[in-house]
This record gives sequence, C-alpha cells and structure tokens, in this order.
Amino acid sequence: MALAVLAPVLLLLGLAPAPVSAAQAQAGSAGVGARSWPEPVPVVSHVATDDPVVFITIDDGWHHDPAAQRLLLERQVPASLFLLPDAYAYDRSYFRTLLDHGPSRVENHSVSHPNLTGLDAAGQRAEICEARDRHLAAFGDGPRLLRPPFGAYDETTRTAARACGATALVTWTHDFTTWGEQPPPAPQLKRGDIVLLHFTPGLSQDLARALDAAEAAGLKPAKLRQYLAD
Ligand SMILES: [Zn+2]
Repeated sequence: MALAVLAPVLLLLGLAPAPVSAAQAQAGSAGVGARSWPEPVPVVSHVATDDPVVFITIDDGWHHDPAAQRLLLERQVPASLFLLPDAYAYDRSYFRTLLDHGPSRVENHSVSHPNLTGLDAAGQRAEICEARDRHLAAFGDGPRLLRPPFGAYDETTRTAARACGATALVTWTHDFTTWGEQPPPAPQLKRGDIVLLHFTPGLSQDLARALDAAEAAGLKPAKLRQYLAD
C-alpha cells in the first residue's frame, strides 16, 4: 500500500523502485552521474500527493493589475510567480507587496523568454542563472523552481536548472489563462494539479475562476516550492 502511494513520487524523481541490491543501486546512480552532471532536476506537470491541494502559478509579469494583487492578498493565495526580470524592472513594488504581505514566491522563467531548446548549454545556463541572480538582487530570495518559456525544455535545460539552484522544472496541468474573447473551459481540478495563469489584464477573473474550481473540488492552493524541495 505504502509502495503504491510512493511509486508515482519515486517515478517523478527518477527513482523508480527496483529489486536491486544496495551495491547495484549505488553503481546505477554513479552511472547517471557520469552521464550528466549536475544531476538533472525532475520535470513536474502534476504533483503526486494525497493532500487536497492545487498549485497556482502565474507567469511573465508584464501587467500589474491591482485587482489581481488584492485578490491574491485577500485570499492569501500561495502563488508561484515565474517572473521575467524586465517585467519588474519598472515597478518592483507590485511584487514586493505580494511577497511581503502574502505567501507567494518569485520563481525562474529565464531572462529573455527564449525557447531554451534552441540554445546550447552555455546559453541556457546564462538565461537561467542570470534570472536567478536578478531575482536574488531584487527580492533577497533566490528562485528554486524553473518554468521554461513555452514549457519547452531538453536534457540540457534540466542540468542547467540544477546548476542555477533549481530543484525542479515545472510545467503545468491546466492553463486557465484567457487569451481570446472567451475564457477556456474550466476543467475539474484534481489533487496535485498545477494551474497556469499569466499577468494579463484578465488575471483577476482568471484567478477567481481557478480559485472557484479549486473550491468546487474541495482543494486548497498550497506552496509548490514546499512540495518540490530536494
Ligand atoms: Zn512565459
């Protein structure tokens, strides 16, 4: 029973249980280390958990809507904010307020929002590590999670993420962002789902729909970083 519950988590971490001796296991992990260093971070589109939780994530950061800020603070939503440094360069206080008065955290979304798979290892590392450095300088807190722009990544992205201080590469389960006239249909949320939103003019409505969908499913927003720590 315990193993059945653990199996998805272990698979997620690339640690699938297998009937091998400790010595074999050690040799296996040494082999992984020899192939790629540092160890690639796990890729997460859904968190394997029995807790009644969902995860709210908000990308980019270009539009600083006061209504969305109010809603995040009034409901004390622990959102993961995957910000671009240039999107707060002209107004850091919008996000500073979210961090100081609520449980949200700033995470890594690269510097210039490229498709990382088009860059070599040095290029990927520059994008991810520079974003980490700028977040740290601006907010005094280094990001721990990477969301690659467009959700596009390769093996190099996973090792670059680790080298730049990330513990996981996070995509998403459901995108609640309204890009056109009509919002996308709200799916039935499940435990561990990761909701994608963006800092658009429609964020407060999109966030309200996501919170309503979570409540309808008996789920509460939780801190993604805590569920994906090493
Ligand atoms: Zn983005």
